[in-house]
Amino acid sequence: MQFQFATATRVIFGPRTVNDAGRLARELGRHALVATGRDAGRAAPLLGFLREAGVGAATFSVCGEPDLDTVRRGVELARREGCDLVVGIGGGSVLDAGKAIAAMMGNEGDVLDYIEIIGRGRAVAKPAAPFIAIPTTAGTGSEVTRNAVLASPEHRLKVSLRSPFLLPSIALVDPELTRNLPPALTASTGLDALTQLIEPYVCLRANPMTDALCEEGIRRAARSLRAAWREGGDAEAREDMCVASLFGGMALANAGLGAVHGLAGPIGGMFSAPHGAVCAALLPHVMRANLSALRGRQPGSPALARYQAVARLLTGNSGAGCEEGVEWVGRLVGELQIPGLEGYGLKRADTDEIVAKAAQASSMKANPIVLTAEELAGAVESAL
Ligand SMILES: [Zn+2]
Repeated sequence: MQFQFATATRVIFGPRTVNDAGRLARELGRHALVATGRDAGRAAPLLGFLREAGVGAATFSVCGEPDLDTVRRGVELARREGCDLVVGIGGGSVLDAGKAIAAMMGNEGDVLDYIEIIGRGRAVAKPAAPFIAIPTTAGTGSEVTRNAVLASPEHRLKVSLRSPFLLPSIALVDPELTRNLPPALTASTGLDALTQLIEPYVCLRANPMTDALCEEGIRRAARSLRAAWREGGDAEAREDMCVASLFGGMALANAGLGAVHGLAGPIGGMFSAPHGAVCAALLPHVMRANLSALRGRQPGSPALARYQAVARLLTGNSGAGCEEGVEWVGRLVGELQIPGLEGYGLKRADTDEIVAKAAQASSMKANPIVLTAEELAGAVESAL
């Protein structure tokens, strides 16, 4: 057995920990670029904490999913304002933008130089500027991952800036920040978290550390996602979902993902659809495709026992079989009102292009079995 495990330098978890953000930032720098979502006003309390600690701030609003230009504009602002650290407060898009900006503040050249396939694929050579990641959704786990997903609209592609230097200096997870998330966002981000726990658990590169995180994360998501969706103010449910998201991020960064994310990448590049909702729509169908392919071609694969363990964690029934896990996920996706992919403009005729692009996706390499183009197309069509 051989494995490595890397995560954010420090993880700080708990209600109201955001109140310490100023003091923590002061340990890392003097002037922060604060990346926020569309509504920069929501960062007002954080700006207050920074001010009290004597840390200057320039705010940078990230609207929607970041693209290469978002990163360029952020770096330009940071250099103009003399920023020496980055604080990101928001969902996965904001945190990914913050990570990429911090990385480029520490490195020369253009962000495209460091992107594979469409760029020069150079390795990020120098440390990033210090970065504090403060998630306000419980889903992407971006606060502990080493990549930033960026859109390239001209290529209709989503690409990743990837390096161990992208791991945040501090992941500051305050469950109270997720309390006001509307139900639809709780559902899509929460199901992304669940996907990011199931895929690393059944994938080819799972290791004992990621297994432990996935088992605990799946258990918490299973007992609390419905409750957090139904009653946003349920503090225990919100806390569980923040743990699930954090553990999912740690697991995916160290073990990899699978076909759900392999397909979600190209779909997100081609259509304007939230990542979590795409993963949620695909999850039960990809689980079913994997199970059927494993039984048909690799009946001795350890992934089958792992799917059974997933079913038992999800249902809480120690006698549950793999199918019951798939059915449980399918019911949850329906109950949380996740729309089919057709709702984002995806048509049956797009399947071939999606499947061809997905074959190149790095997530696909960790899937427990190589799925054929027909099997992948079948999963996409079932998710329409
Ligand atoms: Zn995801």
